[in-house]
Amino acid sequence: MRRQRKAKIVATLGPSSTTHEQIEALFRAGADIFRLNLSHGSHDDHRTRYEIIRTIEADLGRPIGVLVDLQGPKLRVGTFAEGAVQLKNGAKFRFDLDTAPGNDKRAPLPHPEILSALHPDTNLLLDDGKLRLKVLKCGNDFADCEVMVGGKLSDRKGVNVPDVVLPLSPLTRKDHADLTFGLDLGADWVALSFVQRPEDIAEARKLIQGRARIIAKLEKPAAIEHLQEIVDLSDAIMVARGDLGVEMPPEDVPSLQKRIIATCRRSGKPVVVATQMLDSMVQNPAPTRAEASDVATAVYDGADAVMLSAESASGQYPVEAVTMMNRIIERVERDPVYRRILEAQRPEPEATGNDAISAAAAQVAHTLSVAAIVTYTTLGSTGLRMARERPQVPILCMTSKEATARQLCLVWGIHCVISADLKRFSEMADKACRAAQREGFAKKGERLVITAGVPLGTPGSTNILRVAWIED
Ligand code: PGA
Ligand code: MN
Repeated sequence: MRRQRKAKIVATLGPSSTTHEQIEALFRAGADIFRLNLSHGSHDDHRTRYEIIRTIEADLGRPIGVLVDLQGPKLRVGTFAEGAVQLKNGAKFRFDLDTAPGNDKRAPLPHPEILSALHPDTNLLLDDGKLRLKVLKCGNDFADCEVMVGGKLSDRKGVNVPDVVLPLSPLTRKDHADLTFGLDLGADWVALSFVQRPEDIAEARKLIQGRARIIAKLEKPAAIEHLQEIVDLSDAIMVARGDLGVEMPPEDVPSLQKRIIATCRRSGKPVVVATQMLDSMVQNPAPTRAEASDVATAVYDGADAVMLSAESASGQYPVEAVTMMNRIIERVERDPVYRRILEAQRPEPEATGNDAISAAAAQVAHTLSVAAIVTYTTLGSTGLRMARERPQVPILCMTSKEATARQLCLVWGIHCVISADLKRFSEMADKACRAAQREGFAKKGERLVITAGVPLGTPGSTNILRVAWIED
């Protein structure tokens, strides 16, 4: 079973995608990696879905990636005596630590560390940015504000504070428990929400100890100020446009998306574009023209993956949403302009054997019109550097490690095959040819480009490039 496209699809699971039938339908429609969003649902719900994914993986014989997304320090107001209040433009409003239910003059903001980090003129955005309040005066236990953009405010709505680097670890108490749960479950990727500083990644890495790879979700302006460092320290990046578009003006998000993708591609780090991609498909069986164009733009930008959130987790048309995403990606990838854009943006190889071989492999594949590139990779780094070249043909990654195969599901152009490590150099071409035929990537008489490293089984030693014919 192979995909006819290079960019990948991440599908979030939720109430609309819980049964074996539902999840298998999403996989068959094109989902390459499933996201378990720990902001919602119980551990038992997530465990059930995880086990279903692993059963489907075994039944269909294809690796499937699982991404556990931690909620992070999402700030929320407390509750109101009447459940909701209406805030008028120009009115005064106070946030404090008093736990008594709020009214139209004040409300609890149960985050002391936030109150003490505020200063006059800080903007507080409420309910996904629908309301905006400006701090006039503040202390360690209160903030007096003026309502700049009013509206209805109800219990437990989200609070964003874009202007301030908050003294918060990206891992809350809940995240620590969810992380342990996710790692024990067998997550391939862990996503960190509201990353602000490079140190946040280092802190998570210490806890994760190599048991999963780390995706930093970029959704805070502070993170953008340290973009290159955060990209360097992470294993992948998510352009988390939901919160990013609240923390920053929406008109900044498109250019930022392009800048983040370009930075990741130069560094060879996978990048996922997320949120509201086919949002109207939560309720409708077809997307708007603007949404189709949004998915296409991310693909033209060269993103590794595009993501569905509510569309597949709680929408009415989860399979249709994946099917639509699959169609849009395939269509863009057939456009000669797409190829020209990728060529024009090709990053320079770094001065390593791995990059030199990868660049050469992409070049040879093009010159000889081979059917596929086959790379032998242990921990995936050869696969990643090959994907960085964005070659014209599919990349078959041969790895003996199941974890590597699952992790690489996120990466542009890669189709993984789990296969025992090479014992003898002479097996290299034979094994590659058999796998390429079996997986539907090449026929007799076609050629492959193969890369590997000698001595065998030494990660990072890629130094061989070979062209092989598929024979009888
Ligand atoms: P979320 O992250 O869905 O966990 O909020 C994605 C985003 O903010 O875009
Ligand atoms: Mn978010």
